[in-house]
Amino acid sequence: MYSRTQNDNGTYNTRCLFCFMTIASAVENSKELDALENRHMCPERVLSELLPRAEPRTAQQRRF
Ligand SMILES: [Zn+2]
Repeated sequence: MYSRTQNDNGTYNTRCLFCFMTIASAVENSKELDALENRHMCPERVLSELLPRAEPRTAQQRRF
């Protein structure tokens, strides 16, 4: 999940919605945005994957 905004000069900024870090600014096209977003190693998302309690439904599906 990323929040993209456009600057007055037509370039883009993208920000991660998990850790609220600005991943890139003044990016010229959406293809570059995709690449930069894919490269982002989100500390918040890594933590949530390390801790099963953070996402119990996706980590293990229980059957009753
Ligand atoms: Zn992040």
